Amino acid sequence: MDPDLIVVGSGFYGSTVARRFADAFNKKVLIIEKRPHFGGNAYSHFNKVTNIEVHNYGTHIFHTSNIKVIDFITRFAAFNDYRHTVLAKHDNEFYSLPVNLATINKIYRANFTSEQARDLIESEGREVPKNLANLNLENKAISSVGRKIYEALIKNYTEKQWQTPPSLLPAETISRLPVRFNEDNSYFSDTFQGLPIHGYGALFQNILAHPNIEIQLNTDFFGTIWSKQRTIPIVYTGPIDRYFNYKHGRLNWRTVDFEVEVLPQSDFQGMAIVNYPDADVAFTRIHEFKHLHPERENVSGTVIMREYSRFTTPEDEPYYPINSIDDREILLKYRGEIAALRNVWFGGRLGTYQYLDMHMAIASALSFFDNDLSPSFKLRDL
Ligand SMILES: Cc1cc2nc3c(=O)[nH]c(=O)nc-3n(C[C@H](O)[C@H](O)[C@H](O)COP(=O)(O)OP(=O)(O)OC[C@H]3O[C@@H](n4cnc5c(N)ncnc54)[C@H](O)[C@@H]3O)c2cc1C
Repeated sequence: MDPDLIVVGSGFYGSTVARRFADAFNKKVLIIEKRPHFGGNAYSHFNKVTNIEVHNYGTHIFHTSNIKVIDFITRFAAFNDYRHTVLAKHDNEFYSLPVNLATINKIYRANFTSEQARDLIESEGREVPKNLANLNLENKAISSVGRKIYEALIKNYTEKQWQTPPSLLPAETISRLPVRFNEDNSYFSDTFQGLPIHGYGALFQNILAHPNIEIQLNTDFFGTIWSKQRTIPIVYTGPIDRYFNYKHGRLNWRTVDFEVEVLPQSDFQGMAIVNYPDADVAFTRIHEFKHLHPERENVSGTVIMREYSRFTTPEDEPYYPINSIDDREILLKYRGEIAALRNVWFGGRLGTYQYLDMHMAIASALSFFDNDLSPSFKLRDL
């Protein structure tokens, strides 16, 4: 293929840009993907023994209220009506997350009304003086939910996730913790939620099924001739520091390890995700994928996945940006380098060093295409 555009990475960002480009221009786009599969972290496969769809990189639930994203994604897949809920298992009991009236009543062994619960949590939160609430993650969490709930459900979970005491983590690591003073246990509040009925694999296959799109798997961009040339435009969704050969240092990430188990029983935990906030349990969550698709009948047994969190080494998959002050300084230097480049655009979670949900990756790819890539190609054609 003689491409008009190179896209590095076939996750939601790269695949969305490639498809918009292929639809809009009669030009060729070549996607280069270093993994043996397309789809980035949203990729899934069907387990041969159970016929259950396993999300290779942890449970991915699609949710958005963005009309443009909904219009785009529903061209390529129909979605089921799965609604996500999460329980946390603490001291052998289950608690609803995010914190709601049921969580508060169970933790306090009480039967508060909504108003009583609100008064209690507000007064507990006042333990942290207002001017110190953003000093660190611990202060921020206690001021949101009170010490008792913080210590039961948040403190050790956060410490397991970050391998750092929450009192030493910046407050910005979390947004203000939501507390509901009603029984609403839905995890997301978006208007559109669900899972692609035929799986993420089929969804990506449909996005990429276009005569102007070609994809090369098992190919590291930096081993190709395209990384040396400067004439064909590139949309790069790999790690930003890698592009510049780490000349200003490495950006830090947290990674997760997944341990998959296929079990003969029909149900392990009755729901898709249970969090484990206690310090004496090494993993942070257990995923059980069959619950994401209650409509699927042709499955047997179950597949669970334990999730463990830790810092990355250079060999690991980067998952969550740590975003420390040092990281932000390094990032600024790379952004300065990008500003001086021509014909290369950076996008997606790795290319911008930020956590993006799937709908955010798609939304940002759509607006990048409309505002930058498309005008640039129209100018070229003049
Ligand atoms: C554990 C976990 C759970 C998540 N759950 C959800 C969820 O429930 N809902 C939700 O909306 N989002 C979820 N996300 C976020 C979701 O995975 C991301 O939003 C999405 O994957 C971002 O897409 P992307 O295209 O930016 O990046 P990616 O999907 O990471 O794609 C980047 C691609 O670039 C490729 N690449 C990198 N370097 C090179 C190179 N040198 N050469 C060639 N290819 C390269 C990579 O192999 C990868 O395929 C979750 C993320 C994690 C880690």
